Amino acid sequence: MLGFVPLAMIAPPLIHENRQAIQMSRVRMRHNVFQGDAFPKPWFRPGFQNFVWVQSPNYGVRPKGTVVDTVVVHATAGSTARGAALHFFTPASQVSAHYIIGKDGSIYQCVSTFRRAWHAGVSRDFLGRGNVNNFSIGIELVNLDNGKDPYPKAQTNALLHLIEALEYRFPLKYVTSHAYIALPAGRKVDPNGFPWHSLASLNLKLVDKGHARQGP
Ligand SMILES: [Zn+2]
Repeated sequence: MLGFVPLAMIAPPLIHENRQAIQMSRVRMRHNVFQGDAFPKPWFRPGFQNFVWVQSPNYGVRPKGTVVDTVVVHATAGSTARGAALHFFTPASQVSAHYIIGKDGSIYQCVSTFRRAWHAGVSRDFLGRGNVNNFSIGIELVNLDNGKDPYPKAQTNALLHLIEALEYRFPLKYVTSHAYIALPAGRKVDPNGFPWHSLASLNLKLVDKGHARQGP
């Protein structure tokens, strides 16, 4: 599972990703406990815009016919990708996201994008659609989420290019924040202090609190 994949190779691993997700769901059906890959030890940083899988057991099936059109940007409120990945790796946490991006631009994938990750919680988007996990891809940025901790260029570039790559796979239209969609309002502030202008070149609508911008 530690094979790492350059961003340019995102299409070929699709088949692998799907197969792994199917295998995982079979495992869960049989044992109802996580018996997937071991947690990486020692911890591994694949480097800027490279991927590593750290499979989370915390995911479900997207409702039939769901069109995935939204990216939800989060901040981990922690200082390491390892800490976030370990949280997602733990069945009892009951949370996950599809991706974690480290400050160096390393990308960790924890849930197949074909599956429903558990990142948004009780939520509603700007169109009034509830249960945002159903139709979104959740991306966590390693950041203390205090509004002061910076989001380095390597991290925002990796996010930008990951979303661009995902546009080949899904008809994405919107990028929003966990803070914007979380219910009740004010439950979440992440990604606090995120520089939304770093995503301005995307041809997507950016929807954040007090910051809704129509894409070009
Ligand atoms: Zn969040």
